[in-house]
Amino acid sequence: MKNYHTHTFRCKHAVGEVDDYVQAAAARGLSVLGFADHTALPDNRWLFMRMSRAELPGYVRAMEEAQRSCSELVILKGMECEWAPEYHGFFQDVLLGQYALDYLVLGSHFFPHGGEWLSSHLDVYDAERLSAYTKHLIKSMQSGLFAFVAHPDLYGLTYMEWDENAAAAARDILSAAKELNLPLEINGNGLMSRVVETAQGSRTAYPWLPFWELAAEYGVSVVVNSDAHRPSLVDQGLREGLRIAETLGLPLADLDHLEGVEHV
Ligand SMILES: [Zn+2]
Ligand SMILES: [Zn+2]
Repeated sequence: MKNYHTHTFRCKHAVGEVDDYVQAAAARGLSVLGFADHTALPDNRWLFMRMSRAELPGYVRAMEEAQRSCSELVILKGMECEWAPEYHGFFQDVLLGQYALDYLVLGSHFFPHGGEWLSSHLDVYDAERLSAYTKHLIKSMQSGLFAFVAHPDLYGLTYMEWDENAAAAARDILSAAKELNLPLEINGNGLMSRVVETAQGSRTAYPWLPFWELAAEYGVSVVVNSDAHRPSLVDQGLREGLRIAETLGLPLADLDHLEGVEHV
């Protein structure tokens, strides 16, 4: 099994250093472990849930040391990023260029609406905000910087009912993913730990099943990741997520090209 979405203590809501996750992944028999901690930003914005700009070199060094010392599995250097036009150059030139990261993940945790940035975790509770979330997500997908989209259905946390707006948002995201040939993530962290109570009963917040049922119609490819924030959870939800993909007939994305760089 492979996991391309792993955090470290640097984001302030995860525990463990790179090595702790590598050891846990080796013990669970993972063949690929990709790190995608919450990115540093050049202006140190949203610092409460990410590393500072100054911590970036140490993060990259920890992954490179792990690549050198571990022969049991493939370790990949990545980052989970909120896209905005003002960060595009930093992601491209500094993260992918200067630091030679293997890949970037789009994690759209914030979106602009009414002149301010809202939280994708807390604020997507009406049709207007859902539309703003969706528009920003698609614009971010179109940046061309990302290997896949983390939890595209994150709006299931606060948009409670699966109605025509929820379906329309899903269709817009899915057709963009199809057109851009961009894989979408079934998120193991959400699958194992995020349940919400709604008028229609309790359900997993994300992955939101109707979203993935629609995904099957579009033929988009998927990647199943643990989104681990704790070493012991390095493989959380992988089996369950793969089962969802299999049941719905969703093709698994081939991300082997991310291993293109030879790590000796
Ligand atoms: Zn996180
Ligand atoms: Zn994440």
